[in-house]
Amino acid sequence: MWTEGKVIERIDWNDELFSLRIKADITPFIAGQFIKLSELREGKRVARAYSLVNPPDTDYLEVLAIKVEHGLLSPNLHQLSVGDAIDVSSSAAGFMVLDEVPEGKHLWLIGTGTGIGPYFSMLETAQAWQRFEKIALVYGVRKIKDIAYKDLIDKYQAEHPTQFQFQAMVTREDCAGALKSRIPEALANGSLEQGLGLTLSAEHSQVIMCGNPEMITDAQVILEQKGLKKNLRRKPGQVTVERYW
Ligand SMILES: Cc1cc2nc3c(=O)[nH]c(=O)nc-3n(C[C@H](O)[C@H](O)[C@H](O)COP(=O)(O)OP(=O)(O)OC[C@H]3O[C@@H](n4cnc5c(N)ncnc54)[C@H](O)[C@@H]3O)c2cc1C
Repeated sequence: MWTEGKVIERIDWNDELFSLRIKADITPFIAGQFIKLSELREGKRVARAYSLVNPPDTDYLEVLAIKVEHGLLSPNLHQLSVGDAIDVSSSAAGFMVLDEVPEGKHLWLIGTGTGIGPYFSMLETAQAWQRFEKIALVYGVRKIKDIAYKDLIDKYQAEHPTQFQFQAMVTREDCAGALKSRIPEALANGSLEQGLGLTLSAEHSQVIMCGNPEMITDAQVILEQKGLKKNLRRKPGQVTVERYW
């Protein structure tokens, strides 16, 4: 169930937000899935889920994480340095994968904070670019310093200038090109569609939302009003979600 991983690299995006690159042998995974990271403390196991940022064909695992104040595990993960060991689940899990997303012309990838991570795994696969005419990435953060992996976002914009659209949503400061709005409000008043130059519809759109559960619940209400329904295995729809807490 657990295998020992070794931290081979870390990136500090700001004082709390960081990425860990870990060398560990786990069974093959699908882009969008998560692993568990864990520590054994006085015989008791503390384990938490972390989405993989790296695509399936890499020889390392990468997670984007935030140090949650008074959290049980994440402050310890934040202390890890290159060479340190951490237990990793020997397989990944999760259904927020493109194979579970029904056909559609436009793929909307909406994430808040660390919830953006699994989209990079998906966007590093050919499947995403082959399946959808347009891909919109919406990244909700409080401040501009909270944006991670801007290099990858720039790369997609350069490589897929008409297929890829990006919209940053920065709620706590003004920032050129970003919308100063929560995602549900921007969905409700049309400013997100306007910013991306894309229209949401049950016919053409498939939406994935990941991260803050409050954002997901509020946005789901707006999407439902626009005719987009929750995507369930037994009843396919347009909205696929993964709540981080
Ligand atoms: C499927 C899944 C995938 C996940 N992927 C990631 C990931 O890629 N990166 C990541 O950082 N976390 C991710 N999480 C959350 C992660 O599992 C932990 O809950 C988080 O690291 C906090 O753990 P903790 O023990 O430090 O805090 P706990 O003591 O467990 O405290 C939990 C509280 O921390 C807050 N919190 C939890 N996660 C976050 C977060 N990501 N951002 C802001 N506040 C948060 C909430 O208020 C929550 O109630 C994921 C969760 C799930 C269910």
